[in-house]
Amino acid sequence: MIWFGPAGNADTFYQQGYQHSWQMPEWLHQMGLNAYEYQCNKGIHLKDETAFVIGEKCRENNIRLSIHAPYYINLASTEKVKRDKSIQYILDTLRIAKIMGAERIVVHPGYVSGVSRQVAIELALDTLLETIQRADALDFSEVTICPEVLGKFNQLGTLEEVIALCSLDERLLPCIDFAHMHALTLGGMNTSEDFKRVFKLVEKHLGRERVSKVHIHFSRVEFGKGGEKRHWSYKDEDYGPNFDPLARAILDFGLNPVIICESRDTMAEDALILKSIFHREQAGTTGTASP
Ligand SMILES: [Zn+2]
Repeated sequence: MIWFGPAGNADTFYQQGYQHSWQMPEWLHQMGLNAYEYQCNKGIHLKDETAFVIGEKCRENNIRLSIHAPYYINLASTEKVKRDKSIQYILDTLRIAKIMGAERIVVHPGYVSGVSRQVAIELALDTLLETIQRADALDFSEVTICPEVLGKFNQLGTLEEVIALCSLDERLLPCIDFAHMHALTLGGMNTSEDFKRVFKLVEKHLGRERVSKVHIHFSRVEFGKGGEKRHWSYKDEDYGPNFDPLARAILDFGLNPVIICESRDTMAEDALILKSIFHREQAGTTGTASP
């Protein structure tokens, strides 16, 4: 089983006259999608009642729900006040996730600023551990925290750093953003082997169960010297990565990931394109297996 859906609400959703996120689950279901990542990246601005309704609509329409936590979280800040605030933002996201019935929240680890990467990861590990302890005390343990692989060189969140963070507690799951990985490797995600190497590393350090249910972000990406610059639509073929080799790698590895499409504006339509590429690859597999 595999899940496809958008990050946030696509332009077409609004163009068709819809206004509210609680209308998204049915809209997605009718399109043939089965996942939705609600965006709290600029903060948690929705009412508890709205959160509950979004969750209820997702359950009615068989949509797997996750939430993107605020962008300004920085687990590695050298200022304790900012680390404490980051813990609070994660706890606030977990609280709303619990009301929604969202299974996962995606969290940006933060920045490497004024200290070495080693010091930054140590700070982030401490902050995340405290977050988990406080989340458990508040009874939020049913929601999975997914530290995300980030796309800029000054950010904390290489694949290795995300694996290190996830090693803290076996309930943590990595969110592998392949656009970010493509940017950080300066265009290195091309063949299915490139993608399989990522899954192999996750499996080696975090085990089979966690790699099999990994959270994935995908879009085409423009990058420069600092890493990620902007996300593009899937039809903007000047930018990588392509989804075909990733679909191949997921099939060969036998994974059951949630795949959230983060294209600009066309994230829902593109999630559907990713789904069709996946099914084409899958049919190809069956075709070669049976004479
Ligand atoms: Zn993100």
